[in-house]
Parts: sequence; C-alpha cells; structure tokens
Amino acid sequence: MGTFQTVNPGDQPVWINTDNCKACDICVSVCPAGVLSMVYENTSTLGAMISIDHPESCIGCNDCELNCPDFAIFVADRKELKAAGVSFSKLTDEAKARQEAIVANNYMSLQQGA
Ligand code: SF4
Ligand code: SF4
Repeated sequence: MGTFQTVNPGDQPVWINTDNCKACDICVSVCPAGVLSMVYENTSTLGAMISIDHPESCIGCNDCELNCPDFAIFVADRKELKAAGVSFSKLTDEAKARQEAIVANNYMSLQQGA
C-alpha cells in the first residue's frame, strides 16, 4: 500500500511527493524502523517507487527527510501530529527486525510478491 500524497493530510507521520522521488533507496536504507520500502511501479521511469508500508512504526527521527537528495519525503512536526490525534511510535524490536528484513530484501517491500 503506497501513500502518495504531495501534502500531509494532517494525520500522517511521514509522506512523499512522488513527483520528486527518484527511487534512489536512500531513505529506505537510513530508516531504523522498517517504515519504508520500494515497490515495482511501471509508471515510474526507474520502474520503482517508494512505499510507506508501516507509518504506524515511524519514530519521527527525520533521517529519511534529512538524507533525501530530492526533497521528496517529509516527516510531520511532532506537535502538529499530536494535534491530529496521532503520535510517533517508539522503536520496537519488531520494527528493527522488519528493517533488517527489508535491507536483506534489497530494499524491496516485504508486502509485494514473495
Ligand atoms: S531518498 Fe528521496 S528520492 Fe530517494 S527514494 Fe527516498 S524519497 Fe525517493
Ligand atoms: S522519520 Fe525516521 S522512522 Fe520515520 S520514516 Fe523517516 S527514517 Fe523512518
């Protein structure tokens, strides 16, 4: 399931401007919590696109946004998110294990194919 908004709908911890995303994998590689992955996407020039598979696991570390070379991924402001009734997660062992599995899967989504 992708979350392909260009603006934050208000209650999303992390969101993408897919017009800017070059599917470079960097955000997937730096996320500690297994939130992000790549999916095959025929309409993209690179044949892949970022997917926010587990927004509920986002810890709000900002590493994805800080490392994206194309200003394509955004992390919510903690206070604004809270005002929308949503909180960032704590980093769980499950999320860490999922991140390791995504890296081992060449950054591809664990929800696709297989
Ligand atoms: S780092 Fe930026 S450009 Fe690269 S895949 Fe992530 S959102 Fe897309
Ligand atoms: S803010 Fe941190 S935990 Fe959330 S998606 Fe970005 S890198 Fe992952």
